[in-house]
Amino acid sequence: MLLNRNKFSDPKGVTMPITDPEKLRIALEWNFNVWICRRCGARNPPGAEKCRRCKSKNLRPKRFKK
Ligand SMILES: [Zn+2]
Repeated sequence: MLLNRNKFSDPKGVTMPITDPEKLRIALEWNFNVWICRRCGARNPPGAEKCRRCKSKNLRPKRFKK
């Protein structure tokens, strides 16, 4: 843990620049705020009530809670 802190505060250390916070946020939303069809596995938009491919209503959110 201490090592990690040192690494982060190292003035010479070049930390890998994470993409724009804004872009990252959008990317995360895009990736996680979707519904996955349990039947055919198709991705559906956040507001979808049924699968756009097989019309099944058996959707699950692609959100992983740990
Ligand atoms: Zn489907």
